[in-house]
Order: sequence, then structure tokens, then C-alpha cells
Amino acid sequence: MLVSQILKDKATGGVRSLPPTAAVAEAIKIMSEGRIGTVVVSSDGATPEGILSERDIVRELGKRGNTALEGTVGQMMTKNPVTCTGSHTALQVLEMMTEGRFRHLPVMEGGEMVGLISIGDAVKARLAELSMEKDALEGMIMGH
Ligand code: AMP
Repeated sequence: MLVSQILKDKATGGVRSLPPTAAVAEAIKIMSEGRIGTVVVSSDGATPEGILSERDIVRELGKRGNTALEGTVGQMMTKNPVTCTGSHTALQVLEMMTEGRFRHLPVMEGGEMVGLISIGDAVKARLAELSMEKDALEGMIMGH
């Protein structure tokens, strides 16, 4: 299944992003209210400059204690995130995530961010694909 199809099925209405100058506390509020694990960092909402994951926040809290919460998302984010496009497959996306050890990928089209794929989205798509393949193979073997 293609990333473009996964995004269509998700239809969650855009990517949550914040500018690098936003407070970490604001990112935490967005993540907690939206029940999401990352916020894309972008000044214009179209170019991903970074990505801030709950893991980054936990790591900094462990290192610096509560003072970590006083910083900006720009200070804590991973810069220049890896991205994919709508024509990547769920399997390719899972390979990129496994290799890069992250669970989120901004999706780019024509130089602009059009969505975000999580490892959960990609696994769900891949499982649906495998189930359809299994049914098709069983149908062939049974002569249906
Ligand atoms: P995650 O597993 O996505 O919560 O993130 C684990 C770590 O990888 C964190 O330090 C994130 O900032 C970073 N990260 C998340 N997504 C990406 C990405 N697409 N490209 C590069 N780093 C990322």
C-alpha cells in the first residue's frame, strides 16, 4: 500500500507543527491533548526543520530535570528529519523507520509537507496487505 493511500484513509486533517521558537511546554500540551507522540517543527508549516518526539523530552528531563521544560522546541528537536513521499510503500517506510530507529516520517509532496506517517499507520497498512495476499493465495490453491 502506498503512503498516499494511508494518508487518505487516515484523514486526520493535517500535521501538528510548531515553530522552533515555541516552548517545549506547548509541544507537550499538543501531544497530550492530541494523544500523539511527535510534533513536527516548522516555521511555515510546509518545510520540516525538525521533529520533536516524546522520547526527546523524556531524555532531556532525565539529563537536566525540570529545567528542560523551560527551553524551546528548536533546542530539543532532531534537526533535518528524514522524510518520505506519497509514492513510498508501507514496507519501504517500515524499513526506513527500522534503519533510522524512529517511528514517525513527515510526508512531502512538491516540496511541501502534506502529512505524517507513524509506525502504527504503516504496520496497520502492511497487515491489511498481507491478509489480502493470504486470502488471494488461499483462493488460488482452493481453486476459487
Ligand atoms: P520516535 O521513535 O519517532 O518517537 O523518535 C525517536 C527519535 O528519533 C527522537 O530523537 C526523534 O526526534 C527522532 N526522529 C523521529 N522521527 C524522525 C525522522 N523522521 N527523522 C529523523 N529523526 C527522527
